Amino acid sequence: MTVLDDRPILVAPRQWAFVDKVTGKARIATCMPGCEANHSMDMEQPTHPEDIWCEIVGADVHMPVNTNGYAEDFRVLGVKLSMIPFSRIPAERVPHAVVEVVDDHWMEGLDPDGLATVISTLEQRVQALRSTHARLVAIRAQHGGGLI
Ligand SMILES: [Zn+2]
Repeated sequence: MTVLDDRPILVAPRQWAFVDKVTGKARIATCMPGCEANHSMDMEQPTHPEDIWCEIVGADVHMPVNTNGYAEDFRVLGVKLSMIPFSRIPAERVPHAVVEVVDDHWMEGLDPDGLATVISTLEQRVQALRSTHARLVAIRAQHGGGLI
């Protein structure tokens, strides 16, 4: 697992062969630069080309979320870089971002502008949280020194 940052990826993309499960013919796959996926299963057995996914995954963060009467830890704001070299969707054939809002609820296929929009929206929400935090601190102070 990697901490995603803005350092350039200096490793040349890997190329490897696999047997196309649809045609039965050998094909060459070229990984996304910096891909951390273990493609050994893709190489060892016939693989549907669209099942080949390249990824660089960031560290997980969990927060307690109440969905059914008690708090459970859910992953929130997960992010990874992905590329599906043989996807039917052209936007997925190039490196793109995937953001997990909360456990298994993903925003997929984010190009740089799309990811910038997500970041901007979340920055606005963080600012709203900061304002709410300041208001909460003030209200609790009025309510009796923050003690309930
Ligand atoms: Zn790969």
